[in-house]
Amino acid sequence: MSEPATAPAIAAAPSSEAAELPMADRPAVPFIEIETLRAREFIPAAKEALSDMIGEQAQGKLIRPVFNWAGRNSLFPLHWGLACCAIEFAAAFGARWDAERFGVVPRSSPRQCDLLIVNGTVTWKVAHKLITLYEQMPEPKWVIAMGNCATGGGPFRTAYSVVPGVDKLVPVDVYIAGCPPRPEAMLDGILKLETLIRERRE
Ligand code: SF4
Repeated sequence: MSEPATAPAIAAAPSSEAAELPMADRPAVPFIEIETLRAREFIPAAKEALSDMIGEQAQGKLIRPVFNWAGRNSLFPLHWGLACCAIEFAAAFGARWDAERFGVVPRSSPRQCDLLIVNGTVTWKVAHKLITLYEQMPEPKWVIAMGNCATGGGPFRTAYSVVPGVDKLVPVDVYIAGCPPRPEAMLDGILKLETLIRERRE
């Protein structure tokens, strides 16, 4: 009987295993359970998932600008009003100024909002409600102090009952001067906020 053919020699292990593996054997990009992520966890999870596909520098040049672009063109302010400045806030969404053309759409639940426009006199009595609403908004979120009252207490700044500026309660990104500021001023504040979001790095 003839001798059985000898098994072919096993090729030497490559120096870089991943480089020699066929595509099907490479580690898969981690699956993201998007439904289970909180808003603040989404960008870190997306970065981790893409880290195998693109380099660190490319992530900064691709992911952050895309999220900034989406965020600044779809701002959802909370639909609430505190005092006379709220009338100007409402007018800005009417047919004449049409704030929605900038993608700014008021929502009635803080859980679907990323922008808090404080448009009136903040009293100490309402302060804890304002903080609760702010904390119910998902990250990333921004605050605009609209008018002199929200900025620094306005004509009531010496009153015992008035908060001398909403930045004593929550962090403010943009201040709008005026008593009241006109709808154009509110739109200008929103455009300033869009500039801040465009330049956001983390
Ligand atoms: S800044 Fe003037 S217009 Fe605005 S809420 Fe205060 S008093 Fe009213």
